[in-house]
Amino acid sequence: MNYTLSEELIAIRDLTRDFAAKKIAPHARKWDAEKWLPTELIKEMGQVGILGVAIPEEYGGAGQGLLGMTVVVEEIARWCGGTALMMAAHSGLCATHLRIAGNDAQKQKWLPKLVSAEAIGAWCLSEPECGTDAEAMTTRAEKTSNGWKLNGRKFWITNGKRADVFIVTARTKPERGARTISAFIVEKGTPGLIIGEPEDKMGMRASDTVPVNFENCEIPAENLCGELHNGYVDALRVLDRGRVTIGSLSVGLARGCLEEAVRYSSERKSFGVSLHQHQAIAFKLADMETQVEAARLLVRQAACTHDAGRPDKQLCSMAKLFASEMASRVGWDAIQIFGGAGYTKDVCVERLTRDNKLCEIGEGSSEVQRMLIARAEVKRAAGEAA
Ligand SMILES: Cc1cc2nc3c(=O)[nH]c(=O)nc-3n(C[C@H](O)[C@H](O)[C@H](O)COP(=O)(O)OP(=O)(O)OC[C@H]3O[C@@H](n4cnc5c(N)ncnc54)[C@H](O)[C@@H]3O)c2cc1C
Repeated sequence: MNYTLSEELIAIRDLTRDFAAKKIAPHARKWDAEKWLPTELIKEMGQVGILGVAIPEEYGGAGQGLLGMTVVVEEIARWCGGTALMMAAHSGLCATHLRIAGNDAQKQKWLPKLVSAEAIGAWCLSEPECGTDAEAMTTRAEKTSNGWKLNGRKFWITNGKRADVFIVTARTKPERGARTISAFIVEKGTPGLIIGEPEDKMGMRASDTVPVNFENCEIPAENLCGELHNGYVDALRVLDRGRVTIGSLSVGLARGCLEEAVRYSSERKSFGVSLHQHQAIAFKLADMETQVEAARLLVRQAACTHDAGRPDKQLCSMAKLFASEMASRVGWDAIQIFGGAGYTKDVCVERLTRDNKLCEIGEGSSEVQRMLIARAEVKRAAGEAA
C-alpha cells in the first residue's frame, strides 16, 4: 500500500495548514472559552474548499477520498479539536451518509451546499438511552399519506445548533434488528424539529453539541435517505469511515501537543541546559514522535484501503482505537514536559488533551473498537481453520 500523497493533496494539505495557522490557531482558546465556533469560519472553510475535500468533483468537491479527509482533519485538529469535530460531523458523517446512501436528487440538492458551507450538516444516531447500543433506538418514523412523521429524542448532536440539514435514523419496524431502521433528511425549520441547548463539555468546546427532539415532525416521502429499513446498515458504513476520520483528528491533536512540547523544551532551561538536553525529556519526545507517526500510518492505511475499494472494518477500528489512546498518552506527556505551565490554559496542550478525550468515546468507544477488532480476528481465524 502506497501512502504517498499526490501533488494535489499536498497542495490541499499546505493550504489547510496555512488556513489553520492563520484563521484557527489565534482564536482557538477564545472559542473553547465561549463554547462556540463562528459560523463565518465554517463558511470560509467551505469557500476555500476544505470541507469538500472528500466529496466527488461532480458535486463541487476535491474528490480526494477518505485519505484527503484524514490529511485535512489532521491539519485542523493540530490547532483546534472543536473545529475538526465540526468538520468530522458535517463532512465525515452528514455529507458521507448522503453520498453513499442518497439518491441523485438528494445528492444534487445537498452535496454542493455542504461543500461550500451554504448549508451546515448534522448526523443524528445517538439517543439519551442508547449510544453504544444505537440499534436499540426508540425514535420512530411512521408512514403518513404523503410522507413520514418522526417522534423521538436524539442526543449529543454535533453542529445541531446551527445545522441546516439533519440526517436522522429512526425505527421503521417495531422489532429490534439492523434492518428495522431507516434514515431521513430533515431540514431546519421543519415544524416539530426542536433543537435543545448546548452541553457544557469538558473538551471539544468550540463544537456545539445539543439534544434534538422530534415531535410529530412531518417530512415528505422523498426525504427517505437510502433504502427503507436499511438506514442502520448505511449508518454503520458511515461510521467505518468516520472512525478513520476521528483517528486523524487524534493524530492532529497529538501532533499539536508534540510540536508544542518540542518548542518549549528548546526554550525552557533547567540546570543550565534546555529541557530536551535531559535524557528523561528527550526520551519522552522520542516516544511521542514515534507514537504519532505509527498512528498516522495506521490511519492512512485504513483510509487508503477504503479508497482502493477494499474497506476493512477491523483496520478502521484499529486506527481509531490506537490513535485516540495514543493522543491521550502524548497529551499527558506534553503537559508533563510543560511542568506547571502545562497545568494552565495559557498553553494549548491542556485544551488539545481535553479535546482528545472525546475521540476515545464518540463514534464507538475504545471498548467497542476492541470488541470489533477481536470479533474480526476470531472470525478470520475460524475461517482459516475451516
Ligand atoms: C462531544 C460529543 C459529540 C457527539 N456527536 C455525536 C453526533 O454528532 N451524532 C451522534 O449520533 N452521536 C454523537 N455523539 C454520541 C457518541 O457517539 C456516544 O456518546 C458514544 O457512542 C457513547 O454512547 P453513550 O454516551 O450513550 O455511552 P454508553 O453507551 O452508555 O456507554 C457507557 C460506557 O459503557 C461502555 N459500554 C457500553 N456497552 C458496552 C459493552 N457492550 N461492552 C463494554 N463496554 C460497553 C462504553 O464503552 C462506555 O465506556 C457525541 C458524543 C459526544 C460526547
